[in-house]
Amino acid sequence: MQFVDVVLPLPLEGTFTYALPDTLQADLKPGVRVVVPVGKSKTYTAVAMRIHDEKPDFEVKNIYAVIDRQPVLLPQQLRLWQWMGDYYMATLGDIYKAALPAGLKDDDDYRPKMVTCVALAPCLHNEEALHNALNTLHRAPQQQHALMSLLALTHWDSLSGDKPTEEIVEITRDELLNDSHCTTAHLNQLEKRGYINTYRKQVARIAQNTVAETKKPKPLNDIQTDAYNKILVEMMGHDVTLLHGVTSSGKTEIYIHLIEKTISQGKQVLYLLPEIALTVQMTERLQSIFGDRLGIYHSKYSDEERVEMWQKQLSEHPYDIMLGARSAVFLPFKRLGLVIIDEEHETSFKQQDPAPRYHARSVAIMLAKMYGAKTLLGTATPCLETFTNAHKGKYGLVELNQRYKGIQMPEIEIVDTKDLQRRKMMNGPFSPQLLSAIRSTLQAGRQVLLFQNRRGFAPMIECRMCGWVPRCEQCDVSLTLHKTTNLLTCHYCGRTYAVPKLCPCCEGNEIRGKGYGTEKIEDLLGDIFPEAKIARMDLDTTRTKNAYDRIIRDFSDGRTNVLIGTQMISKGLDFDKVDVVGILDADSMMNYPDFRAFEHAFMMMAQVSGRAGRKGKQGKVLLQTRQAQMPLVRQVAQNNLKTFYEELTEERRMFHYPPFYRLVYVYMKHRHDSVVEIAAQTMGDCLRNWFGERVLGPDKPSVARVKTMNIRKILIKLENGIDLKRVREYLRLAQKQVLQDKRFATLQIYFDVDPL
Ligand code: ADP
Ligand code: ZN
Ligand code: ZN
Repeated sequence: MQFVDVVLPLPLEGTFTYALPDTLQADLKPGVRVVVPVGKSKTYTAVAMRIHDEKPDFEVKNIYAVIDRQPVLLPQQLRLWQWMGDYYMATLGDIYKAALPAGLKDDDDYRPKMVTCVALAPCLHNEEALHNALNTLHRAPQQQHALMSLLALTHWDSLSGDKPTEEIVEITRDELLNDSHCTTAHLNQLEKRGYINTYRKQVARIAQNTVAETKKPKPLNDIQTDAYNKILVEMMGHDVTLLHGVTSSGKTEIYIHLIEKTISQGKQVLYLLPEIALTVQMTERLQSIFGDRLGIYHSKYSDEERVEMWQKQLSEHPYDIMLGARSAVFLPFKRLGLVIIDEEHETSFKQQDPAPRYHARSVAIMLAKMYGAKTLLGTATPCLETFTNAHKGKYGLVELNQRYKGIQMPEIEIVDTKDLQRRKMMNGPFSPQLLSAIRSTLQAGRQVLLFQNRRGFAPMIECRMCGWVPRCEQCDVSLTLHKTTNLLTCHYCGRTYAVPKLCPCCEGNEIRGKGYGTEKIEDLLGDIFPEAKIARMDLDTTRTKNAYDRIIRDFSDGRTNVLIGTQMISKGLDFDKVDVVGILDADSMMNYPDFRAFEHAFMMMAQVSGRAGRKGKQGKVLLQTRQAQMPLVRQVAQNNLKTFYEELTEERRMFHYPPFYRLVYVYMKHRHDSVVEIAAQTMGDCLRNWFGERVLGPDKPSVARVKTMNIRKILIKLENGIDLKRVREYLRLAQKQVLQDKRFATLQIYFDVDPL
């Protein structure tokens, strides 16, 4: 008797053992999907992880059915799951749920796309029979016409004897109807006469790339060639190499040459981007060179498309290059040779919620290792962890200090909005300097990018009389006013509320918005520059895949003059005509209550500045802040990375943060605040017993209630070199002990390893 350990698509620890009845496939391989019973009446699609003959000492149920002949997960994927489960303290079930498109998890969900095809009936496959058939149709000219059309489209009109001289082509009923202008009724009659046959056929949803001609990669200049060669050398000695190149130095052009080299050796490339918005431009750049060897994979594709992409990766002819966002690390690869992680510093590579809470950069590096492939990290602003690894030799390091064609880095002007406000010179969120720069740029027919990291209209509304602020009923946050919907929205749970006419506290009728979201910036700017074409890119305007395409293309092609956006516009985009970049409110980023706030603020500002002046002449950035004297602001303005990293490193060393310490957050959630409070104290005591001073908290996080759940957080700081395996064992033990307590029956405890 054989037994199979399977992963269920449920948030459960470990694998579950089932028996494989003799009537089912004997040579079952790991990675194959099976249908198994769970409990009294449920069945699930599970993934076989291990097949063995060790009979468990408890009663096991039989597997109901085997779905696949060949595995849908390759051994490397299964090993990656194991590693992720261990490292991130996630359950295999959660990883399974995150990794596979829904259509592969539930066999009923995926519906193949079918079309109806039309073919000439075999009895007419010779000249004489065909001739007779056409003759009998002379009283039915429409049918005759349809048959002639079919013969021409399929090439049966090249018949000589009973052999066509050209290869027969398969056509769909729709193609025939289009070409012949006949109706389905005519075709039905032809079928009744036995002249044609119709049949159903499955077709691919994933669009075939229609690139007529592909171009050669652009030749690299001397500086770039030098960097390219250095990368190859560094890769010989390191699994991971960092390409640290200023914005617009041509990093992407270098990636293209590396991709070409890798695929010419018969290997595959995984190219990860932090943001779906970026895939639009990158797809164009890569497709023009690699044509249909390029596949694209991210969450804005329909589930059916993702299933087909997955199946193509398993087929004999997988894509040579996969371009994708975070979730592309889960795709199967047959012969991965290179992983490129573009904009490696980006926090959107981290999946926060739901579990598994993983960092796609770390997972991709591990994936590459499993294939013996190399990883290249690229950015103008490496995160401190990567910077440190590269400078102490754990990673290879290649630097590019010049923009392509030696264009100057943009000039960054600090605009002191505190002073301007005092002198009553601000026009809402705009300084006179910024408005004048926008005006002259528009007059010159050039473009402006405005960065405001808050979406919606007003981040908060307030009663002018008593100061009342509406808050979400389910979460511990104030609500954002959205003007297009005229609703108050919670950015944590998505719940919406009507805007009250009167203040519920004092019945006053002066409820006003405070602060500026992207929507309001768009409105105000439209009033000042009525002739300008203004577009906005944020979460609210990019609900669909096409919306990204449209907004970016409109701006690239000059149909819009000003693009306002959140962090979505800060990264990686390559526009030719942006002369001016405005950072409207640097303070909101710097004042964020987190030890990484400065690091993130610096990177966001440096990146968005990097969008200015990429072609032709030097660009200009206006950085508006109320804290003009802050060293961080000056470091951004002077593009002084050296001082920035030095100070950041010192601070992290002093206060025991990464890269000197690893962090684990322990989160606890419960409906009742009193319960979660006691549970968190209990957990804290338990952990302190083992880890001592390394444990901080429990504390209330800055948003302490989300979706009616009250939250507590414990921070654990682990010095480098500590035995992480043991640490994880103890963490799990503590979790188990606390959950055994009857008072905490419905408590949730989860871990965030390497949190951001
Ligand atoms: P990065 O990825 O470092 O921000 P890009 O690769 O996007 O830089 O290069 C910036 C711009 O300069 C792009 O429009 C790119 O096509 C162009 N460019 C860079 N290197 C070359 C080259 N060797 N030949 C032609 N154009 C180049
Ligand atoms: Zn009031
Ligand atoms: Zn809410």
